[in-house]
Amino acid sequence: MLPLESDLLTLDACRTLVALAYRWHVANPHPLLPPNEPFAPPPRVTDGRGRRHACGSRAVIKLPRWSRTRPIVLHECAHGMAADGHGPLFMTAYLRLLARFLDFDTPSLERSLAEAGIRTGRNPPAASSAYEASRLPVISE
Ligand SMILES: [Zn+2]
Repeated sequence: MLPLESDLLTLDACRTLVALAYRWHVANPHPLLPPNEPFAPPPRVTDGRGRRHACGSRAVIKLPRWSRTRPIVLHECAHGMAADGHGPLFMTAYLRLLARFLDFDTPSLERSLAEAGIRTGRNPPAASSAYEASRLPVISE
């Protein structure tokens, strides 16, 4: 759970935050994240009526009332910026939105995520290095 920012936004404020997040994402491409079409509109934001969970994609973000907080809106934005569920690319997109829009300290956040075993784009799994190492050509005698 994030320690800050539990205040509920109006749906219009959520739309503004989504627009800001996408404008910034377009202006600041990240090498690991798929490029965003510069003229594509941000995802449509709907009120999530009748839904228990919030959800987000590149096309639409659905926000039931309880979910209209800055961290959750940015979480749903990150889903539209990376297509790997809650994987390392998603975490990369989410962390930079948190750093940019909520002033989170990215290095310490990445450290605590790494300690908790949660991967981000900058923390590739140790297993992949082990796999690469295991694939090195060997000389058979
Ligand atoms: Zn999610």
